[in-house]
Amino acid sequence: MFIDTNKISEKGLIVSDRVNLDENLLIEENGFFLDDLKYHILFKRDGDRIKAKGNIKTLISLRCVKCLDDYDLKADSNFDIILFPINLVEYENNSISSDEMEYIFYEDNRIDLIKILIEQINLFIPYNPICKPDCKGICPNCGVNLNHGKCKCENSSKELNFVFNKIKR
Ligand SMILES: [Zn+2]
Ligand SMILES: [Zn+2]
Repeated sequence: MFIDTNKISEKGLIVSDRVNLDENLLIEENGFFLDDLKYHILFKRDGDRIKAKGNIKTLISLRCVKCLDDYDLKADSNFDIILFPINLVEYENNSISSDEMEYIFYEDNRIDLIKILIEQINLFIPYNPICKPDCKGICPNCGVNLNHGKCKCENSSKELNFVFNKIKR
């Protein structure tokens, strides 16, 4: 899905739709989309640069790093980015500061919309996804998910300490 930059004026161009994205594009190995991704973006020309201000909404499934259960995360994220034509970097290297080098580029007068959407959703996904703030995790002894109830080895932490002390000796 590409947007012709010639259609983007100073007044701006609004692009709004929903798209079904491939879950392989998510950085989270065990993550997947539970719904289409809805987007609403205003593209505005600023000389050679294109400003993109928008919002993405979707529902994704992630795996909790503590209890290893899958959980749903509602994604609702606003972004404000600048896109540079790739030739600006190649021929006018000095006109872009190193900070700005991290921004997205576009090539041949077209913007890769999917690339922007995927980058934004990946920025939204937490580095260590946790299902809820008070997730109890799994018992290190028997592997039971402690969010679903207590396991039989209530004194597992004491037992573990005992084992560690034994090893130390
Ligand atoms: Zn959890
Ligand atoms: Zn246990």
